Amino acid sequence: MKVLVHYNEIGLKGKNRAYFENKLINNIREKINFNNLKKEEKRLIFEADKIEELENIFGISHYSIVEEVENNADKIIKKAESLMEDVKRLGLKTNRSDKRFPLTSIELNTKIGEIANKKGIKIDFSNPEKTIYIEITSKKAYIYSEKIKGLGGLPVGVSGKVLLLFSGGIDSALAAYLLMKRGCRVDFLHFHALRTNKEVIDSKIINILNILKKYQKEIKLYLVPYHTYQLSVMEKFNEKLDVVMFRNFILRFGQLIAKKKKYKALGTGDNIGQVASQTLDNLNAAGYKVTLPILRPLLTFDKQEIINLSKEIGTYGESIKEYKDCCSIISKKTSTSVKIKAVEESSEKINFDKIVEDSLKEMEIRKV
Ligand code: ATP
Ligand code: MG
Repeated sequence: MKVLVHYNEIGLKGKNRAYFENKLINNIREKINFNNLKKEEKRLIFEADKIEELENIFGISHYSIVEEVENNADKIIKKAESLMEDVKRLGLKTNRSDKRFPLTSIELNTKIGEIANKKGIKIDFSNPEKTIYIEITSKKAYIYSEKIKGLGGLPVGVSGKVLLLFSGGIDSALAAYLLMKRGCRVDFLHFHALRTNKEVIDSKIINILNILKKYQKEIKLYLVPYHTYQLSVMEKFNEKLDVVMFRNFILRFGQLIAKKKKYKALGTGDNIGQVASQTLDNLNAAGYKVTLPILRPLLTFDKQEIINLSKEIGTYGESIKEYKDCCSIISKKTSTSVKIKAVEESSEKINFDKIVEDSLKEMEIRKV
């Protein structure tokens, strides 16, 4: 069957359009087999047997199974007529991206409307039972009656690579999805409190990544045991600082990996005020010595919005499963207003470079 894909937002990107288009085409190719690809005025047209996967590809605004005819008024009208069966109220939407077409959209709709009226069908733009869509390009015309909504956003990869700090919770999984939606290729850095890296592979962490692979074909997971850090900092500073110090460590560790492996930014699931560690003061203090941008797509969401979206994308069920995460071990007596100065002073009491070096030795990189 013939498939028409629209990518409105990418179309706006001027000179970069070819780059965006090609990324989208590659991302589609990774998911479905197609032939006879054509690019026509901000559309992709191709032949494919299965198109279900298109619903999980970022960068697509909508898509349809279409009939292709010559861009000739009689042929278009005839095809439109063949789609009129079994309706009483019919909608019509014509769009000409080639304005040289001899009839205006209104004139074409009028002609089709007259045929419909003769069949006892009323043209109804506000409450139609079915709508016939007609798109006229400089080469062809495409006619269809079902428009399937895509995910929107930008094709994964066009915005560059982001290293996401991933806890396995609801928030960081959703943050990954939202970054992918804006065209970022997201890889994951996870600190775990299990006995071995292997145990993580059998946990919900991998299940969540497998769900997110619907949206990004390949995912890299950097796995780091938490115990090296834990043992090295034990009783080195006031427990009111514990959470922020750990955050600072994982951000700085992530920054090192990011610089080495060419990630343009770090990502987190932080959300202002959700827990004690996420006050503005603490977010700021946790960023001590972090110069790379930290992307926090959930910053302003309500918890309920996060839960709803997380259910929608399919990660919620796994995210809430029990898991021994590092933060549940760390002191609960967090101050809500840690100052950056306190982080600086506490950092001097630990051998940061050594902790990083030892953690790096135990780090494992997995392709999921
Ligand atoms: P989440 O639902 O993502 O766990 P949360 O609301 O529980 O978030 P915190 O536990 O305070 O919030 O963590 C804030 C952010 O810090 C997380 O969203 C994640 O980006 C990062 N983070 C927390 N724990 C880890 C970890 N063990 N490994 C890597 N990143 C982590
Ligand atoms: Mg958490």
